[in-house]
Order: sequence, then C-alpha cells, then structure tokens
Amino acid sequence: MNSPSLLQSSECRAVQIMSRFVVKLGTSVLTAGTDRLHRPYFVELARQIVRLKDAGHEVVLVSSGAVAAGKERLGVNPHHRSNIPLKQVFAAVGQSRLMHIYEQIFELYGLQVAQALLTRDDLRDRRRYLNARNTLTLCLEQGIVPIINENDAVVTAEIRVGDNDNLSALVAGLIDADLLLILTDIDGVYSADPRSDPNAELIREIPVIDERVWAIAGGSGTHRGTGGMQTKIQAADLATRSGVAVVIAAGHEPDVIVRVANGERIGTFFPATTTHPDARQRWILAETVRHSRIVVDEGATTALTRHGKSLLAAGICEVSGEFDRGQTVRIFARDGREIARGLTQYRSSDLRMIAGLRSSQIVSVLGYDYGPEVVHRDDMVVLSG
Ligand code: GLU
Repeated sequence: MNSPSLLQSSECRAVQIMSRFVVKLGTSVLTAGTDRLHRPYFVELARQIVRLKDAGHEVVLVSSGAVAAGKERLGVNPHHRSNIPLKQVFAAVGQSRLMHIYEQIFELYGLQVAQALLTRDDLRDRRRYLNARNTLTLCLEQGIVPIINENDAVVTAEIRVGDNDNLSALVAGLIDADLLLILTDIDGVYSADPRSDPNAELIREIPVIDERVWAIAGGSGTHRGTGGMQTKIQAADLATRSGVAVVIAAGHEPDVIVRVANGERIGTFFPATTTHPDARQRWILAETVRHSRIVVDEGATTALTRHGKSLLAAGICEVSGEFDRGQTVRIFARDGREIARGLTQYRSSDLRMIAGLRSSQIVSVLGYDYGPEVVHRDDMVVLSG
C-alpha cells in the first residue's frame, strides 16, 4: 500500500491525511447473500469507517443496492429478471431507501453521509468532472462520507457506466484516492473458477494485468449484482492506470476495511502503475483549448513557476479566446513564453471581468464565485521556469 501522503487537494489543508480510500460495495455484499439488504452489515461498515476516520483516513463509498432495495420495497422477487426501464424504476424506488438505511445506521456512529449520483457523462464532461471533484473533496474536508451510486433513473445505454466496479475506478481517479477496495462475495482473484476447480488458488498480487489475467477473469460472477470478475479486473486496470492501488477482497472477511487500511495483505492486490501527478498531467494536457491565452504579470509568473502557487485573478493581465469552465487553458508570461497549462475554474467571459481583481471582489462582480483559484495548483502543469 502507499505510504502516508500529504494530499494536495487544498492548499490550506493543515493536517496530514494518511490515505484516501474508495470502498466499493456490491449488492451481494450488502445483502450478505440473502434476498434483502442486510442491516447488520451496514452496522459493521459504520464501525469500520469510524475506525478509519479516527486514524485520519478519508473514505468514499461506491454503493450498489438500489435495485435490490427497490425490489425489497415493492415486494418483487429479487431474482426476477427485469429489463432496463423496470430496473430504473426499482433503482428510483430503492435509492432513497438505501440512503435511508445508511443515514439511520451511520448516524448512530456519528457519521454524516452525502449522496452523489453520477453517470459516465458527468465524469467525461470536464466542467461536471470539476464540479463533482470539488463537491466530493469538500465533503471529505468536512468529515462527511460521500456515498456514490450510478444515477440509474436517468442513464441510457450511451451514458451508463453500467456497473459500479467501473464507476468506483472512475471515482477513485476523480478524487486521487490512494486505494480502491472492491468488496465482493469472493476472496479475490483465483487462478481458476474456485466453484468448479478444486485446484484454484487465490492470487495474492497482480502487478500487471495481462492476457492471462483477463482470461482468468472471464465468466465468474454472482446473480445479485451486475459485475463479475471481468468488470472488477476492468476497474483494477482503469484505477491502477490513474495512480490508484486496488484490492479485491471478500466483504464478509471480518474487519476487512480496517485491516486493508492497516496494510494487511487480504485478497488480491494490484499496485498502481503510475502516480497521481503523472495521470493527472496526462489528463490535463489531453485536451487543451488551442486559442486560449491567459497572460499573467511578473508576480504571478514567479508564483506559478517558482513557488508552486495557484493562479489567482489578481495576477491576470489579459484573456483571449473562448473557453468554458473545466477546460485546459494556456497561461503565458508577459514576454510571450507559455509557462503553464491548467483547468480553469472560470469561463473566459467571467475571467475578462475579474482579471486583475482581488479574490474577495469576484462575487460582487459576477454574482457568484467558484473559489479564489482561477487555476488550482493541483490542476496545473508548469511548462517552463
Ligand atoms: N446501480 C445499481 C444498484 O444500485 C448496481 C450496479 C452494480 O452493482 O454494478 O443496484
């Protein structure tokens, strides 16, 4: 597991955060193999999360269970095969019930929860990506446990993530998590299907996801959730390439979350294959608005290139080109050198109005603000010193 890291999501963050975890809970885990959401499991979960938070960790849950909760509420046989519109109805009914259970049980342990329902489009569109990241990061800074699910009621085939395994990997990348823990009803990745092959062995570590791993993953799954091992490996592949280590383990293993957080080797471990800054840099630079141009003064040039600071409105002299919030813009020194690129929190028309102003003046000019940083340090790639 990664060593303790000082997360840089906020420049004013003073405390050292040990690690940021995303825990993915499948339907088969939340029902504990029964036909209903298993309340004692939620209690267990709350207990473990409290211990993690007390140790200074941050936790985000990606939780399935809406469809199961909807079926439970409507009295439908949980094994009943349903088409997509019907599933969406079950999810719409079940999501509030699922959150109600989380809220009631987590409150007993002093945990505040927040719900975020996402779609693939929310994570593809840079503006919404930024909004989702800001909200989740702020929740964590406030000590709130975000609980995420796919927004099943509004998704259609094109914008569906489709399974919460992949959603959890996208979320882990979104918030720069250190570890994604995928909890399921099997102990980890086996060398063969353990239900049919007595020689199947648990694989402790998968450093590289190659053809052999994909072949092993094919075909195994459960009837209650949507993902089998295939989608878990897809998620591991995606997360490790975003700088997030992954563990796939059994949800019923006692204290599994706390033990994994303490570095105990349980289940199957996938080390990250890149670092967060590298993954983020690639992502930031992938789609730069070519004609964007923010010219900054000497003070801002030094602050950005030498002191690792964010870009504030006060340092901006000139803005040209049209761009939206969340797009990657080009930042120039007055002598014409391109010094940095980064995701802008403000669209070009807003920036023209606030260029040169102090951060505290932004709200009186625009009527709103997205915070003092025009381009946050974490969202910036410095090109020349
Ligand atoms: N979003 C679905 C639910 O809450 C589950 C999808 C999945 O488990 O992959 O029931």
